[in-house]
Amino acid sequence: MALIVHKYGGTSMGSTERIRNVAKRVAKWARAGHQMVVVPSAMSGETNRLLGLAKELSPELASDDILRELDAIAATGEQVSVGLLSIALQAEGMQAVSYAGWQVPIATDSSFTKARIQSIDDSRVRADLAAGKVVVITGFQGIDAQGNVTTLGRGGSDTSAVAVAAAMKADECLIYTDVDGVYTTDPRIVPEARRLHTVSFEEMLEMASLGSKVLQIRSVEFAGKYRVPLRVLSSFTPWDINIDEEARSGTLITFEEDEKMEQAVVAGIAFNRDEAKVTVLGVPDKPGIAYQILGPVADANIDVDVIIQNVSHDGKTDFSFTVHRNDYARTLDVLKNTVLPHTGAAQVMGDAKICKVSIVGIGMRSHVGVASKMFRCLSEEGINIQMITTSEIKTSVVIDEKYMELAVRALHKAFDLEQETT
Ligand code: ADP
Ligand code: ASP
Ligand code: MG
Repeated sequence: MALIVHKYGGTSMGSTERIRNVAKRVAKWARAGHQMVVVPSAMSGETNRLLGLAKELSPELASDDILRELDAIAATGEQVSVGLLSIALQAEGMQAVSYAGWQVPIATDSSFTKARIQSIDDSRVRADLAAGKVVVITGFQGIDAQGNVTTLGRGGSDTSAVAVAAAMKADECLIYTDVDGVYTTDPRIVPEARRLHTVSFEEMLEMASLGSKVLQIRSVEFAGKYRVPLRVLSSFTPWDINIDEEARSGTLITFEEDEKMEQAVVAGIAFNRDEAKVTVLGVPDKPGIAYQILGPVADANIDVDVIIQNVSHDGKTDFSFTVHRNDYARTLDVLKNTVLPHTGAAQVMGDAKICKVSIVGIGMRSHVGVASKMFRCLSEEGINIQMITTSEIKTSVVIDEKYMELAVRALHKAFDLEQETT
């Protein structure tokens, strides 16, 4: 008998019919003798609908007071899901009980809309499991030390599930979603994308951080930190598929590098449309200038991603960096109001229509020429690279958003990702 955590995403929970299917699948696993904890997301579209209502009342959703209320609102989507799934399980003849994050409790910090899980008290859940119940816990939400409801950022149910699995030392965490695993790139953009049978933890971490939303990055971090066996698989297979076959399907996140993985130089391509670029022109090129520009941006709690400083001419240089698109307007404000007057820079410019495309692979550590192959491929497509950033196992470029799909398709082909690696 194993302790298994299942997570079901929004599409998998998208209608009462689908919830019934989830219940049948979970019941199958429980009847096979496993202790089951299930973490569902809100029904598809529900979180957007709820946040949309808030936006109708206040277009500017940035103050701490508003963020607190946003979390109170957004968390209700998952609360509906756990109740519905428990009822569906009971209708299948199972004993089932649902808990909201605060009832478990799942303790988080107070960073509303992007809270981090600090601890999980699993005593109540363990008692229910021991009594033969299936336990259904809300994804995406927790409670802070002051008793406020918090949420973990978009896609955060993945993190809830892995964190519950880590806290309970579950034998496996299965992330059921609307694709049948992790692909070489988003199969919605490149239909030839290939499912990976395994992907290394490090590659998954990079892909998630670079925009592959199939797993929220923090869920991958948790899996790595606590060595949670993690698999991504489809919730759209027939619920009564053979359980052993199901348990081997999808994509397994692995923690050991095996030889086969070494051979795939590039494992996948990630992309992210959520960024915007800002440039400060004519900055005096002297020690401390990066701090003078980025210090006020950090003070405004804005995360900076790719950074480029040009060579200087006549003692002046240009300084560009990217931020999340949601922070674009605020970043321009900070630069115009604080940085320009203090640094003597000439001008601030911005472009919110950019995207970042990245190639990821642990094989890049031991192979030269991978980045240049990427640049050649993009140049053959006539795509201008605005910024480049690299690490040991990835190369990212910032390009005009309108070329994103073209770039991803061309790179996917150039690196032979549609082919089965041997
Ligand atoms: P869920 O609601 O189940 O959490 P998400 O929409 O958050 O599902 O994540 C699944 C989606 O991630 C897929 O439908 C797919 O479009 C997208 N995706 C992006 N990159 C990848 C990838 N490399 N492999 C698989 N899916 C990917
Ligand atoms: N419902 C939340 C969202 O839409 C959390 C999740 O689906 O993982 O972001
Ligand atoms: Mg998701």
